[in-house]
Amino acid sequence: MTSPAPAPETVAHDDLCPICHLLLYAPVRTECNHLLCASCMAQWADASTLTRITPSSLDMDLSAFDPNYDPTPDLEAGCPMCRTLTAAVPDRKLAGFLEARYPAAYAERRVEEETARGSRVGEDGVQGMMILIGNRHRAERGGDEGPNKHNWTFFVRVSRPDIVKEIRVNLHPTFRPPRVVLTEPPFEVRCLGWGTFTIEAELVLNEPYGWVKDGMGSRSQSLELSWMLDFEGRGKQGRVRAKVKKLDGDADHPIDVDARASPVNLPHMDHQHV
Ligand SMILES: [Zn+2]
Ligand SMILES: [Zn+2]
Repeated sequence: MTSPAPAPETVAHDDLCPICHLLLYAPVRTECNHLLCASCMAQWADASTLTRITPSSLDMDLSAFDPNYDPTPDLEAGCPMCRTLTAAVPDRKLAGFLEARYPAAYAERRVEEETARGSRVGEDGVQGMMILIGNRHRAERGGDEGPNKHNWTFFVRVSRPDIVKEIRVNLHPTFRPPRVVLTEPPFEVRCLGWGTFTIEAELVLNEPYGWVKDGMGSRSQSLELSWMLDFEGRGKQGRVRAKVKKLDGDADHPIDVDARASPVNLPHMDHQHV
């Protein structure tokens, strides 16, 4: 005797994600009232806003972020359905409903999300990194008649300092030195100066990690961010949600590494350094 096969789950059209056409998993709802998988929204948002710096309160602290922090709900992106600029909020009630209605399909989606497509930490998967970039500021009185000087500290905070090799900070060319390389946290540059200018920071990852730069899978070891120093009050900061991935270094997808980088330690490469 064989037990009867479980009734196949037919997913109603309304319960399919409009992006991946699979059962909605961990659905998020946009302000324009569209529903899609959290990972589909995140992938879309990454492709459209990867290096956009979103202003955030100076009180926001990176200690709030762990490596598994999922910033999707904080993220504004153009809705893939209607292009409205919107944040997306998890709809946990709907998630519970879908899981109860399609237990097998939902479980299957969970496995899929947690391995291949997941934006959370997966064996080979893409991982999220939160970056806070900004400056603290304090005005310093000049002499009796002299103008005020600005005491500022430029900083970059990352949720994954363990995989950041260095941050190259390009200051105004009049600074000596005009370029500073920070190799460990806290990644900060402190100066006393007269005027504001834009700082270019280049975040370089440890091999074998690379930044995922767009939806096309292009990857690079460095990510460039620009920050205009703010001398208004006590400073300002912004946040960036970036994606990183372990690079396989295969020949079909050469990594954009500068030639001076240290010897690579990848399993499939022959070492020429004897
Ligand atoms: Zn989806
Ligand atoms: Zn929409």
